[in-house]
Amino acid sequence: MAILNIVMDPDPVLRKKAVKLRKADAGIAKLADDMFETMMVAPGVGLAAPQIGKSIRLVVIHVPEDEEDGQEEVNLKLLNPEIIKASGEQVGAEGCLSMPGIAGNVTRAWSVTVKATDMENKPLRIKADGYLAVVLQHEIDHLDGIMFTDRIEDKKKDLWVVEE
Ligand code: ZN
Repeated sequence: MAILNIVMDPDPVLRKKAVKLRKADAGIAKLADDMFETMMVAPGVGLAAPQIGKSIRLVVIHVPEDEEDGQEEVNLKLLNPEIIKASGEQVGAEGCLSMPGIAGNVTRAWSVTVKATDMENKPLRIKADGYLAVVLQHEIDHLDGIMFTDRIEDKKKDLWVVEE
């Protein structure tokens, strides 16, 4: 596996609508492995292919276990993920590996159902709520060229600088 270079805002690749792939092959599976390792080292909870300069609809996610929240560890490599259902609302702080040094409060759906395929081209349907739902929405936004800051209306109030 290899650590990939993470693209920083305002690189134009982050603003492109990424293309759908027909299926995962060995090259895509290897890229997903490298993206996963890059995310773990960063460290982050999610990484989308545009963030390593590839405008394709591929995301990786690692949400660690949180006993207080009742959140189990989740590791995902998703090709062509798509939100097919969203409901409810939550507001929480987000950051992005492509926008180091800032964080902000973003309003997201509380619960989402995501359709995707895995690295063996098997169809997946993921029903998530709470934190995992936020990570899925944040990463899928990257595939449409949307950054979390785009979803913050009052940037004076809801966007702030964080210590690295
Ligand atoms: Zn991000």
